[in-house]
Amino acid sequence: MIQSSLSIVREVSSPAGVNWQPDCACSTSRVAVSRDEIDEPGSSWVRLDPVPMVELNADYWIVHSPYSTSGSLLLSREVIDALQDDPRRLPDPLKRLLVDYGVLGQPDTTLLPTAAETQEVWLHVTNACNLDCSYCYVRKSIEHMSESTGEQAIQAIFDSAVRHGYKRVKIKYAGGEPTLQFERVMHWHRLAQARSQQERIDLEAVILTNATLLTPEMAASLKALGIRVMVSIDGLADTHDAQRPTVGGRGSSRTVRQGIRLLLDAGLTPFATITVTQFSLPGVKALVEWLLDVNVPFTLNFERPVTPRGLRQAARDNQDAIAALQAVLESIEAALPPYSLLEGLIDRANFAQAHTHTCGVGSSYVVIDHHGRVSQCQMHVHQPVGSLAEADPVSLIRDAVGGIHNLPVAEKEGCKTCEWRHWCAGGCPLQTYAATGRYDVKSPYCDVYKAVYPRLLRLEGLRLLRYGQPEQFFAC
Ligand code: SF4
Ligand code: SF4
Repeated sequence: MIQSSLSIVREVSSPAGVNWQPDCACSTSRVAVSRDEIDEPGSSWVRLDPVPMVELNADYWIVHSPYSTSGSLLLSREVIDALQDDPRRLPDPLKRLLVDYGVLGQPDTTLLPTAAETQEVWLHVTNACNLDCSYCYVRKSIEHMSESTGEQAIQAIFDSAVRHGYKRVKIKYAGGEPTLQFERVMHWHRLAQARSQQERIDLEAVILTNATLLTPEMAASLKALGIRVMVSIDGLADTHDAQRPTVGGRGSSRTVRQGIRLLLDAGLTPFATITVTQFSLPGVKALVEWLLDVNVPFTLNFERPVTPRGLRQAARDNQDAIAALQAVLESIEAALPPYSLLEGLIDRANFAQAHTHTCGVGSSYVVIDHHGRVSQCQMHVHQPVGSLAEADPVSLIRDAVGGIHNLPVAEKEGCKTCEWRHWCAGGCPLQTYAATGRYDVKSPYCDVYKAVYPRLLRLEGLRLLRYGQPEQFFAC
């Protein structure tokens, strides 16, 4: 009989959440647990594996399970001891809660793949840009997407969604710099809204901008049409200016931050995407502190693809990255936001729901360029697999011969037994291929991920300690 009180902490009411915006394709290949399995009461419940547990302080551990979408849970040391010893001795209400959070389950509990519900589209509305970023993969020109090509693209996107049974379409207006085509983007989005209503398919949209050309009128239009804004920013002053100069070679950091403030003044909270390179690493901490100060959520994306030369340096570079990212996470810890950071803070990892693939490349993710050509990933925008005139875009990217091999994490060497595999999924396939010539191995950033993920869970645990609700259970 357990005599001591057993305490847990969990989130009871979600604070205003963040609509996380990865800079490329979301991980839509979700996995789920059959409800029958977890609802069935019984004494045969066991600790599920893998369920990462990270020690938070003298009193609590945080657990985060892939077998549930309920989120993280803080467990007192007494609960952890009982789990290690014999979970059947825990009081029934606590056992049920641990089943809900995917910590306990039937011995044969497995994760089942589910079909993606969202067709995600990168619309490359222009090949032009007013910046000249050092890592940009776009072979830029002054060409824009014509009005009719954009209209054709919108119709093709919804035709595809209907044909392949998607419930939701998510469009990313990108480029180049999409605000160079702002009025056309507004026009195309109105078309998309009309088609969305007609087909009863949900629509979500985001514009990926460098924020240097934004005006209050643009911000008002974006807000009115419900288009979210993702702003690329890599540092304050010099760090940003070195990576993201204007075409004329001047710095752009001041105008980017003005753009962010302009959006905030218009009541639009943008989402900041930070491209982390070995050159920008030292400046990321200061940028993150500024973003926390102005209450703008952000994601840290690691530069890709790394090259074989980069891989040879990876061991050393990764150690530098780990040290710099630890400092960034300490800054976040010091100004912890009320919302969870698990869904999108670190590169391609998404801890909100277990998934098998890093992204939807080759299945549900479509890139359409300014000529109406279709490719599997924005990094392959110059390697189209077909055009809108040939077939629907989803069929084109699925049937592509010799395209990107977006393998499930279970087929990646080094990942199969990793405790983080259900959220990391092995990293960006293109990045891994560029560095190793193989798709079936773990990410070249694996060392960084493994060092940072426990710290990310720790942040979530500290957030729950501050904003969650403690509960106590007693053995009868
Ligand atoms: S890349 Fe590394 S951290 Fe990610 S799943 Fe593979 S082994 Fe785990
Ligand atoms: S292949 Fe890599 S860059 Fe392309 S969508 Fe997937 S994660 Fe993003």
